[in-house]
Amino acid sequence: MTTQHTFEEAKIRVSELRDLLDKYSYQYYVQDNPTISDADYDKLYHELVEWEEEFPDIITNDSPTQRVGGTILPGFEKVIHEIPMLSLGNAFNETDLLEFDKRIRKLTDKKIHYICELKIDGLAISLKYEQGKLVLAATRGNGTVGENVTQNIRTIKSVPLRLKKPYSIEVRGECYMPKASFVALNEAREENGEAVFANPRNAAAGGLRNLDAKETAKRNLNTFLYTVADFGEMSATSQEEALNQLDELGIRTNHERQVFDTIEEVWEYVQLFDDKRAALPYEIDGIVIKVNEFDTQADIGFTVKAPRWAIAYKFPAEEGHTVVRNIEWTV
Ligand code: NAD
Repeated sequence: MTTQHTFEEAKIRVSELRDLLDKYSYQYYVQDNPTISDADYDKLYHELVEWEEEFPDIITNDSPTQRVGGTILPGFEKVIHEIPMLSLGNAFNETDLLEFDKRIRKLTDKKIHYICELKIDGLAISLKYEQGKLVLAATRGNGTVGENVTQNIRTIKSVPLRLKKPYSIEVRGECYMPKASFVALNEAREENGEAVFANPRNAAAGGLRNLDAKETAKRNLNTFLYTVADFGEMSATSQEEALNQLDELGIRTNHERQVFDTIEEVWEYVQLFDDKRAALPYEIDGIVIKVNEFDTQADIGFTVKAPRWAIAYKFPAEEGHTVVRNIEWTV
C-alpha cells in the first residue's frame, strides 16, 4: 500500500473493511458457514492493519484488529474467562518470522529457545479441573465470555474426566475433527440430502456448539491441549515442561512439538510441516512459534489481542481447487 492517502480516503476504506470483516466473522464464528477462504479473509484483515498503522487515530476498540473474533450462541450458558483467551499474531513468510525474532531479541537480553507446535485447525476450548475432576469446559467466544460446552466435551473420549493427580488447573487447547471423520460425515450428509460442511474446522465448531450433546458425540471430535492457563499444583518453567506434565496427567497433547535455538531452525521446521501436513490425519493451518521460557514470556507480555512472545505462521493456501457447497474457492 502506498503511503499517500488522505484521512478521508482512509475512513471510507477502513469502514468498508470493518463491515466486510464483521460480516465474514459472523458467518465463520456464529453460523459455522464461511463464504470466503481464510487466505482471502487474512488479506482483508492485513489491509485493515496497514490502514490503521498509517492512520493510528482511526483505530477504535471495536475494530476487528483489536478484539478476538467469536460470539456466544443463544441457548448456551455463558462462561466468563477470568484469564482471557487470546488470539495470535500472524506471519506469512520467512521475512515475517525474522522480524518476529528481531522484535523478541529487542524485548529481552535473556537466552531464549523457541518451541514450535502444530497449529491445529479447530476451535479453542478451555477445560477446568478441580481436584482432578473435569468441572467446566468452555469455548473461547469473544475471549472474555465463552459458551459452557461441558456436556459436549464430556462426550469426547480422549478428554479425561479425571486427571491422574488431584490437581486444580485450567488448560486450553483445540477441539478438532479428524480428516477421516470429516469425510465420513460429509458423505453421510450428502446421502441424506443434507448440506455438507465447508471444512473440518466448521464441522467441529458446529458439532461442539450443539445444544444436544448426543449430536456432538456423533461427530467423532478430538482434542489437543497446548496451554496451561491456571497452573494450580503444577510447576513448570517452560512451555515444553508444562506440555510434558500435561502428558503425565493424562491430557492429550500433540507430540510433533520441537524446541530450537534459532529462528533459522524454526523456518526449517515450518517448511518440513508444509510438506508433511497433507499426510497428517488432522488439519493444520500453520505452525505456532512460542518463546519457550515462562519468565521471558512474562517479561515480553501481551498486546490487547495476543501474546507478544508467540506468533502463528500460516501456511499458504494448499495448491488445488476446493469446491464447497455452492462456493468455489481457487486456492
Ligand atoms: P488464528 O487462527 O490466527 O490463531 C489463534 C488460534 O490458534 C488460537 O486461538 C487457537 O485456537 C489456535 N491454535 C491452534 N493450535 C495452537 C497452538 N499449538 N498453540 C496456540 N494456539 C493454537 O486466530 P483466530 O483469532 O482464532 O482466528 C482468526 C482466523 O480465523 C483468521 O486469520 C482466518 O484465518 C480465520 N477466519 C476466517 C474467516 C472466513 O470467513 N474464512 C472469518 C473469520 C476468521
